[in-house]
Amino acid sequence: MAFDDLVLGLQHLVDRLVRRLRLGPPPSRSRRRLLIVQIDGLSRAVLELGVARGCAPFLSRLIHGRGYRLHPMSVGMPTSTPAFQMAAMYGVRPDIPGFHYHDKRRRSDVYFPRRGDAALVEAAQAAGRRGIVEGGSTYGCVFTGGAANNVFNFAMLKRPSGSGLLRAISAFIVLAWVLVKGVFRTASELVRALLRLVADPVTEVARGWKWLFLKIGVSVWLRQLFTLAVSRDLYAGVPAIYVNYLDYDVFAHAFGPRHRRALRALRRVDRSIRQLARVMRRVPEYEYDLYVLSDHGQALCTPYGTLVGGQPFARHLFEEFFIPAHQHEVAPVHPRGRRLVHGIQAYRRHAAPGIWQRFVNYLESDFPWLLGEPPRARERDGVRIIAAGPNAFVYFLDSEAPLAVEAIDRRMPSLVDDLSRGPGIGFVLTRSVDGPICVWRGTRYRLGLDEPGPFGGRDDLPLVLDGIRDLMAMPSAGDLVIYGNDAPEGNVSYLSEVGAHAGPSADELHTFVVAPPGARLPSLITHPLQLYPHFAAYQEASRAA
Ligand SMILES: [Zn+2]
Repeated sequence: MAFDDLVLGLQHLVDRLVRRLRLGPPPSRSRRRLLIVQIDGLSRAVLELGVARGCAPFLSRLIHGRGYRLHPMSVGMPTSTPAFQMAAMYGVRPDIPGFHYHDKRRRSDVYFPRRGDAALVEAAQAAGRRGIVEGGSTYGCVFTGGAANNVFNFAMLKRPSGSGLLRAISAFIVLAWVLVKGVFRTASELVRALLRLVADPVTEVARGWKWLFLKIGVSVWLRQLFTLAVSRDLYAGVPAIYVNYLDYDVFAHAFGPRHRRALRALRRVDRSIRQLARVMRRVPEYEYDLYVLSDHGQALCTPYGTLVGGQPFARHLFEEFFIPAHQHEVAPVHPRGRRLVHGIQAYRRHAAPGIWQRFVNYLESDFPWLLGEPPRARERDGVRIIAAGPNAFVYFLDSEAPLAVEAIDRRMPSLVDDLSRGPGIGFVLTRSVDGPICVWRGTRYRLGLDEPGPFGGRDDLPLVLDGIRDLMAMPSAGDLVIYGNDAPEGNVSYLSEVGAHAGPSADELHTFVVAPPGARLPSLITHPLQLYPHFAAYQEASRAA
């Protein structure tokens, strides 16, 4: 950390030189500045667990020693980063039903990690609105929020917009240091992994390589880069900064939201926040306000593949529920028997794989998105199915508008009810002329306080119902929206992950905002839309100044 300070000091000198050479003014001192730190995927419940177990000592100190307040927040549906950030950054109600979905009007998928998709969505849905990070920086976010400097967003991943050679030199010092530090720490992680492998090969092989890959990629490189880049912005007096630390979310997806590796990732993020707060205190004249918040939580879940012998959800759904009627007549196989045979065949193909096979499986399941290929979408006879997490979408492509359940019933009379009883399926959402319908184990519910369906007994029932109404009002949500939450087998994700989000479980829905003393946030935050006016006020103040 001392070396970090040295490098930042050097970089600060270059910044001053840059200003002198260009005769630009130093940053204004007549306004409060905004630093938002998002801990991706951290529910309030796990934050509290982390605080109790000493995994978030700095956040704990902010709340218990420095007068920061922890505001409970519910994030609406779907519980997913792009929907949250669209609402919080621009104050618009998003049409973003998941991390991966289909837009029937544009006849194309939206898959956020793919090049250009986030930029398209941002341009279309935020049209004309002022983002809360205008004139500032965002790191690790899905959208730019109007930021000028957003080198590492999904939206700008391939088109960095930082301007000017001198500025680049200043940034280069930070990057060079991240590079040196990252290489050193990568080497040390690899050596340690190698030593562990020599000491205890059996345990090490069982742990798999995914963990090492994530630790080096996300925790060594990305977090260091973000922390140093934000530190540099703080020294420079950048008016608004939004940084999203992905560490906890990534580890929780891979190992579960309360797993010790996920909690350790939280610990590392906590350390980075402490480092940022320390830099903030060195430049009191810039009057930064620090907010720490989370966009959604995660639910512990079972991957769908383990229930059906490794088959991807979309393929399995087609085979079980969408086979044309004439095929049923030709081969009247009992569905349960057929399912079992499929299961056994798939099991033979995938079970007990050796270490090489495991590695190839990781490549198959984790790498397509790096290559820009949307995974887990399948289309047959005008029906497109997309698995996006604990949620999946079924689209009938011949109608541009969402298809109501009455129309789906006319086409395939038993489909909706059969689906809701399928393996690994919690409930199915669809639209009717009178509003959304929830189909739960073969019964249809109108969803109201008097007809809560699967959500009976929830003390946050009104929030759940509002969230589902919002979700099914999105034109891009599937004609059928399938959730694995509360399936007979427990929570199920349609991707190969043991932590998942997008659904309405309490852990996914309820998060927090840690706000500085004196910040006047709404007393009850039930949707990220309510954050927008508060954060946008920092922009207003800057214009007034
Ligand atoms: Zn996530």
